[in-house]
Amino acid sequence: MSVRKLNASKPEASKLFVQDMNTDREFRSHAPGFWPSATGTEWNDWRWQLRHRVGSLDEAARHINLTREEREGLLLTAHKLAFSITPHFFNLIEPDNPDCPIRRQVMPLAAETTISPGEMADPCGEDSHMPVPGLVHRYPDRVLFLVTDRCASYCRYCTRSRVVSGVGEQELETDFEAIYRYLEQHTEVRDVLLSGGDALLLSDERLRKILARLRAIRHIEFLRIGSRVPIFLPQRITPELCAMLREFHPLWMSIHVNHPRELTTEVRDALGRLADAGIPLGNQSVLLAGVNDDKDTMRTLIHKLLRCRVRPYYLYQCDLIHGSAHLRTSVARGIELIESLRGHTTGYAVPQFVIDAPGGGGKVPVSPGYVLYHDTEKVVLRNYEGRVFEYPEKSAGDATAVRPESVLDY
Ligand code: SF4
Repeated sequence: MSVRKLNASKPEASKLFVQDMNTDREFRSHAPGFWPSATGTEWNDWRWQLRHRVGSLDEAARHINLTREEREGLLLTAHKLAFSITPHFFNLIEPDNPDCPIRRQVMPLAAETTISPGEMADPCGEDSHMPVPGLVHRYPDRVLFLVTDRCASYCRYCTRSRVVSGVGEQELETDFEAIYRYLEQHTEVRDVLLSGGDALLLSDERLRKILARLRAIRHIEFLRIGSRVPIFLPQRITPELCAMLREFHPLWMSIHVNHPRELTTEVRDALGRLADAGIPLGNQSVLLAGVNDDKDTMRTLIHKLLRCRVRPYYLYQCDLIHGSAHLRTSVARGIELIESLRGHTTGYAVPQFVIDAPGGGGKVPVSPGYVLYHDTEKVVLRNYEGRVFEYPEKSAGDATAVRPESVLDY
């Protein structure tokens, strides 16, 4: 691998980032960045990107000025969630800014070893809703199929960090045949979400086999893939992959972008290829302190997503995963952000803020209080400007009254 030398590269890279910080709204390519010797063919080859991931303290220190907390964090990653960043994504990091919003998402800190009250290894209670190894069946008509434990890069707040990357507390032992048998027998399942890890790290052939097996089960109506690969590794979204995926419609995809700078020209083009293949795209962001917990960043992110033909879908309150307190914000902050968007911009751009109820309660929508009062005769509403309106209930017989105190007190 050819990389810039430490002293030669850092001042240059810092200068570049002063410009980038002011243009998060624009689509930019950061290639080849720290890999000036990579040829275009190499750079655009997803397997080259995977082979050249930055995965150790020494490799990271070659390019960026690490803080003591980061160095300590990096030393711990042999025993917990691994450290690994694709060259494409690594180029988005500001080398001299430890508060860089990209860096905060992927660079381990010693703070990850501090377990705060309420934090859990499995905050969404997935293990207790796993009838077959590798299959989570928590909601009545849909399942989560964990097809791999590997990702292109690793997010420090990952809700499944106990099991992804191969060095967590647990090992993922997906029993594929038992899962297909379970799904054949459970006719109530109409929706299967492929995740992990990241399903798009599998080869086209491997993924095709899984999708074909699922499509052969007649009561499964709808397939989804949850993936951060279009962001960490846009080179993986090849025309061949898109052609294969479109054989399995209806197939939807949830991507995961947290900060507008992640939407580079390469990512925009990869998302365009998926959209052109007829795949509806939604984004799931995680609300993270110092990353996207301010109104301007969130607004820029959602507008940029729409320009990439992606519907902002969920904004998640950060799960109570072990060692994540430094990345969590208050719930009030999330509600405030949604309130700053609803009515102030395109409705399609406004995600639903949700909390995954600790211990396995599933996603619960959390919204600003727009219903001030509701009984069998009327509903009293507040609009985005704070003006109050009354709407008559259709009839006392039809209405399900919400006890006013339950709206007003909570
Ligand atoms: S890409 Fe998804 S599964 Fe992988 S580490 Fe990030 S949040 Fe976890």
